[in-house]
Amino acid sequence: MTEKRDIRALTKEEIRAYFIEIGEKPFRAQQVYEWLWKKGAQRFDDMTNISLSLREKLAAVFVINHIRVDEMQRSSDGTIKNAVRLHDGKVVESVLIPTEKRITACVSSQVGCSLDCTFCATARLKRMRNLNADEIYDQVVAIKNEAESIYNRPLTNIVFMGMGEPLMNYKNVLEAIEKITSPEGLGMSPKRITLSTVGLAKLIKKLADDAVKFNLAVSLHSARDEVRDRIMPINLKNPLKDLLEALQYWYDKTRRKVTFEYVVWHNINDKAEDIQALVAFCKRVPSKVNLIEYNPIDEGEFQQARPEALDAYITALDEIGVVARVRHSRGKDIDAACGQLANKNELLAT
Ligand code: SAH
Repeated sequence: MTEKRDIRALTKEEIRAYFIEIGEKPFRAQQVYEWLWKKGAQRFDDMTNISLSLREKLAAVFVINHIRVDEMQRSSDGTIKNAVRLHDGKVVESVLIPTEKRITACVSSQVGCSLDCTFCATARLKRMRNLNADEIYDQVVAIKNEAESIYNRPLTNIVFMGMGEPLMNYKNVLEAIEKITSPEGLGMSPKRITLSTVGLAKLIKKLADDAVKFNLAVSLHSARDEVRDRIMPINLKNPLKDLLEALQYWYDKTRRKVTFEYVVWHNINDKAEDIQALVAFCKRVPSKVNLIEYNPIDEGEFQQARPEALDAYITALDEIGVVARVRHSRGKDIDAACGQLANKNELLAT
């Protein structure tokens, strides 16, 4: 017997084509699609306006894969971390971050990561596979439900800052966003979604060409190749001049500022020349800067720089009119903060 396919890996058009092929009315495809996405049906039998015979036909050929939240940890600051089990047993993590004004979902796009950023815990897991669009979408739905049931508040924002590099899983990430924003899915505004990338130049241009409506963040961390090469090996193949050009292209096409994520580390990027390099970079790309607090992952060379170093960055950026804000970590006590998502059990197994 051939293995059943995950019906949620099909686009609406593909479902429609399949229905035509088996002699069903195409409008039924629309109904099934809404059950799968908007209504979150977990079994074909939940689809009450679909005939029993069609439900049986579908169940014979397809499965509906669903994520399962295996474990939910709650931090003293209200942050919630979900350990999410996928249909094949792999685990990723996603995080609910409540602030006064927002509830943000931070979601994963890959199991593990292939990029080897030397300061990041996820990099210690090799990349195992890309997530499907439905696995990304389901993480958002799980957090939306938690926001409503635990905090009695709506989910307001989504960031792709969990495990993995979203642009290395381009198609599925864009499909998930399409479903999150579509009225047939969650109907959220793309303005409330931010994709965070290590900065793959070619794919940033592709985002611009694809006229995406969500926000872009780039994990810059240094505007000097000799430093960035060392902490983010992807920079060797994808140097700052290519990144700069891609970001200018992004701005020309979208007219939206990019947000740079930037950690300042002691003795790595806390010198005047590092600050000057970032200032020069920001002068050439309309941007904002988020100075992220570092979450140590071991006793190694990466340690948060002193507050004076951050102040020096903020003053220099302010002089050229670039807004820079310090972002404090949330959920540190449950290893839910930036760069800590690694799922300790998987890490021990590798
Ligand atoms: N691959 C994507 C998204 C995942 S990482 C990207 O690179 O943007 C989300 C953010 O956390 C990135 O800016 C990353 O550089 C940062 N980060 C990684 N490890 C960290 C740590 N230990 N402390 C603080 N930020 C970290």
